[in-house]
Amino acid sequence: MSSQVPGAGRFAPSPSGDLHLGNLRTALLAWLFARSTGRAFLMRIEDLDRVRPGAEQRQLADLTAIGIDWDGDLVHQSRRTGRYADAVDTLAAAGLTYECFCTRREIQQAVTAPHGPDGHYPGTCRDLTAAQRQEKRDSGRPPALRLRADLAAFTVHDLLRGPHTGLVDDVVLRRGDGVPAYNLAVVVDDAAQGIDQVVRGDDLLGSAPRQAYLASLLGLPVPVYAHVPLALNADGQRLAKRDGAVTLADQRAAGRDPHAVRGLLARTLGLAEPGERPSMPDLLDRFDPDVLPRDPWVFVPDAPP
Ligand code: GLU
Repeated sequence: MSSQVPGAGRFAPSPSGDLHLGNLRTALLAWLFARSTGRAFLMRIEDLDRVRPGAEQRQLADLTAIGIDWDGDLVHQSRRTGRYADAVDTLAAAGLTYECFCTRREIQQAVTAPHGPDGHYPGTCRDLTAAQRQEKRDSGRPPALRLRADLAAFTVHDLLRGPHTGLVDDVVLRRGDGVPAYNLAVVVDDAAQGIDQVVRGDDLLGSAPRQAYLASLLGLPVPVYAHVPLALNADGQRLAKRDGAVTLADQRAAGRDPHAVRGLLARTLGLAEPGERPSMPDLLDRFDPDVLPRDPWVFVPDAPP
């Protein structure tokens, strides 16, 4: 793709349940970032794991109801497993993978070193001998496949955070049950779909360096990122279903239609006045990434629209 041709942004929900207001707000931001830069906007269903029947249809209906549209066909990860297998083969052929027999519990126990960052794989299976590997295989536990990372940190560019350097470890590429790992699938798909702008919740900021590193190992372009602040509840925890009327259906039941919800979300982004019902073109007109709130949005259940 030539550099004159705008690329694409995307929203990539996991169909594990209904979207809540925080998810809808992130989707709205992803749409605004993409459309305001002349990019296409793509929708990818990340259904390799945790699928709840009917959730995809409800998520798409809710996105549409608040005014989000997308280009081209939906992409479902569950239909693309051959591509993930090819990427794993490429890395394996380059000597960049190894089998890992550790359970989650063993990893947690091994990461008791005082400076071991959370979730950081300590490399237990990295240098097993062939005999040790065989012994573990014989014990019957199917191995996961991990990346043999050859550096410890990688820097990505984030439109809201600037340069962000983060940990790169021996990330799982294929789980023990054979399912391609999220970090691999996301990298393969973003590149295959021509996505050069990734806007998502800032709970995934920590994954961006490992994903960008993985992309570079696969010879794929690294997108530009914008990790946007999450929605929190009054206790400062990530917004969840138990926090009140947080889905579009809940909001409807409470008398707030989808356009009013869009107005509410826009207000939390500094793009609308209280009670206003801006259209999507209005929001596009007003959108300016430089003045977006940098702090989380705290959802107060009974606040007026
Ligand atoms: N499917 C992930 C989620 O719903 C998002 C992954 C991404 O945006 O990279 O949390």
